[in-house]
Amino acid sequence: MPAVSNIRVRFAPSPTGYLHVGGLRTALYNYLFAKKNNGVFILRIEDTDQKRFVPGSAESLIRTLDALGMQYEEGPRLKNQANGRASRKYPEITEVGDYGPYIQSERLNLYKKYADELVGSGKAYHCFCTAERLTELRAEQAKHKQAPKYDKHCLSLAPDEVTKRLAAGEPSVLRLNIVSDRGDVMFDDMVRGQVTINVRDIDDQVLMKSDGFPTYHLANVIDDHLMGISHIIRAEEWLPSTPKHILLYEAFGWDLPCFAHIPLLLNADKSKLSKRQGDVAVEDYLKKGYLTEALINFVALLGWHPGQGKTQEIFTLEELISAFDLAQVHKAGAVFDLKKLDWMNAEYIKRLSSEELYKRALPFLEAKEFFKEWNSQQLTVNEEIKTGFIKRLLLIEQDRLVKLSDVGENNLFFFAEDSIYDKALLNWKQNTADMTRDALTKAEATLASLDDADWEKREALEAVLMEAAGEYRPAHSPAGSVSGRGDFLWPLRVALTGAERSPSPFDVAWVLGKDESLKRIHNALLSLS
Ligand code: GLU
Repeated sequence: MPAVSNIRVRFAPSPTGYLHVGGLRTALYNYLFAKKNNGVFILRIEDTDQKRFVPGSAESLIRTLDALGMQYEEGPRLKNQANGRASRKYPEITEVGDYGPYIQSERLNLYKKYADELVGSGKAYHCFCTAERLTELRAEQAKHKQAPKYDKHCLSLAPDEVTKRLAAGEPSVLRLNIVSDRGDVMFDDMVRGQVTINVRDIDDQVLMKSDGFPTYHLANVIDDHLMGISHIIRAEEWLPSTPKHILLYEAFGWDLPCFAHIPLLLNADKSKLSKRQGDVAVEDYLKKGYLTEALINFVALLGWHPGQGKTQEIFTLEELISAFDLAQVHKAGAVFDLKKLDWMNAEYIKRLSSEELYKRALPFLEAKEFFKEWNSQQLTVNEEIKTGFIKRLLLIEQDRLVKLSDVGENNLFFFAEDSIYDKALLNWKQNTADMTRDALTKAEATLASLDDADWEKREALEAVLMEAAGEYRPAHSPAGSVSGRGDFLWPLRVALTGAERSPSPFDVAWVLGKDESLKRIHNALLSLS
């Protein structure tokens, strides 16, 4: 194993769309491993598959990593247009680090140079087989229940013939010549332990495609070597590629890095995590109001646990860095449990300071139609009053919010100036309208008598209203009847909210403020007359 100070790891996504939660987990484990070991974390863009390239996705990937605080020391970064690269493919991107370019399509000359070297040493050969021939070969092998494998047909071509056919521009690929008497390919995976593959099961893989682009295998191995990558931490789906890579390292005569394949992400039904069963794009989770910290904490626990007997679930990024250990990554697939993410997100929301909650929740609130409408009717109210209202609303919702996008949704009455409700709802149990009117009149008087300083404090409002409620004896009820808390508080709460269920009248009155609260009580009284 390389010395600790030489630890260099990379996250090497292909720009084929959004950042998948599985990609975030791979990035995160690389990041945590690097930070824990004073190593370097690198971003590399693997864009050699022309057909799967999605313009703009590398940029959005970088943006998402930034939003999540996954800082890498080397790799492509976003810059303003003027400082970006000359390249038309990535006008917004520049890069940092001494091992660049960090975008594979800008390293084509390197791949060509190393591929030529392999041809020169007889480790790789040109193959001119047509797609038809390969299909026939596969069909024949399938008939004989053999695994599909190239039959080395072109390995025996005479060098002159190869030169001639290349010069004539005949389409060809370059294949690695795998020698079947090499013996099993074995390696120690840091998560999975020893892995052994029979060399006879490994195909003479394509290294260069006919379009002149390298395959994933060739580019990935050359880059990992040239970029000094010490540990390859990637998803388990790449495990079948590793023996091929090992044979390539051997063909070049290069030292092997360490490998760690991290477990698959699964849906609740244990199938591979897919779009069909829910969101898989990190951006979608952020758009829904999952906090970056919660998402990172949640994703870190998909396949890793601090160890036996340790029950801690909430980790700051710093805590994750110090607790993370590849040896504690599980082999078994990790179930993506949305309920757990919701729980964790709610926990993180509860811990936000009121300033922070306001800052983060405001954009979600501002995007809501009910808020826009309410806001358009508030033009005369000054900004400070509005901000105070929103902050108080957030504080009373804070303990019940699961996602930031839920803000206001369960308490729409705050934004409905003249809410229409069944006036019978104002009556506590079997109380008559007269009894309700009496209770509301008293509540109105109590609230009207409070000064501005009392309205500032939620607790003060609660204390005053609870006292009034405790002393209240329902009108028209038998003399000496017990205290009528419900008789007093229920109509007040309904007058303020118009809702059968809502936060307490103290909370609601505090959020609405004196004028709006008194207005709503007044309207309720009018409706009873
Ligand atoms: N480009 C591959 C991907 O999209 C990288 C696999 C690896 O890490 O080797 O995930």
